[in-house]
Amino acid sequence: MRIHHLNCGCMCPIGGALFDGFSRGLTACLICHCLLVETNQGLVLIDTGFGERDVKAPLSRLSPFFMNLNRIKFEQKYTALAQIKQLGFDKSDVRHIVLTHLDFDHAGGLEDFPEATVHVMQSEIDAAHKCRGFISSQRYRPLQWDEVKQWKYYSPGGEPWFGFEAVRDLEGLPPEIFLIPLAGHTHGHAGIAIETPEGWLLHAGDAYFYRHEINTPKPHCTPGLRAYQWLMEVDRKARLYNQQRLRALSLSHSNDVRLFCSHDAIEFKTFADQNQPSSVTLG
Ligand SMILES: [Zn+2]
Repeated sequence: MRIHHLNCGCMCPIGGALFDGFSRGLTACLICHCLLVETNQGLVLIDTGFGERDVKAPLSRLSPFFMNLNRIKFEQKYTALAQIKQLGFDKSDVRHIVLTHLDFDHAGGLEDFPEATVHVMQSEIDAAHKCRGFISSQRYRPLQWDEVKQWKYYSPGGEPWFGFEAVRDLEGLPPEIFLIPLAGHTHGHAGIAIETPEGWLLHAGDAYFYRHEINTPKPHCTPGLRAYQWLMEVDRKARLYNQQRLRALSLSHSNDVRLFCSHDAIEFKTFADQNQPSSVTLG
């Protein structure tokens, strides 16, 4: 099993370091941390960021509200498809896509991989179909996934994993990859755990947004990302509870589990540098 860390989207909201904690200019740098996993069952993509169709026709697919707020950079080089081709693979090699959730910045590339089965929590697809309220209608963009041919939906429950519920035995996927429900940001939000020879990796999606929210007993977050998390949450109690559990996990099992979230550029660079620098596209 070989894992590539891919950045499949760049967002540059106004606010600089008030968002990302490091930018010196007026705008911040947020990324879309995705994984490409080479397995015996073909390629598995974990989240997709923005896709080719988003790049070609953003106005027809995405919400102007989020396009303006996040100042999304639409460039083909960031798409998972472009990066997968650069690694020497074909789009038909991607057999499975596992999603943390269905927000516009995670599901945009689904239709670039027509052979792939898409795995997601049942409660997430239900929430995306119901689409109630302003934020819900702007975050979920059915045009990004209405042509997906094969879905697999899952419910929480199963053998625990470090005290978390785990959804194991995802259909057609190797047993080393499974879902960890982490509701709060959305109703069906989940992390994705992968067992590697070097230990566990946990893609925590949008369960937290800033590197200093975990790995420290004294967490803090930038004002910009704190506000964004408030704006996007559907269940504050669940979100904060799950974030606190992830923090406890990062402190108590730092040698066994390495966590990362979707949008922190510094965190992404740390992981990407440790793996294959050639597959890094941090813009
Ligand atoms: Zn996101």
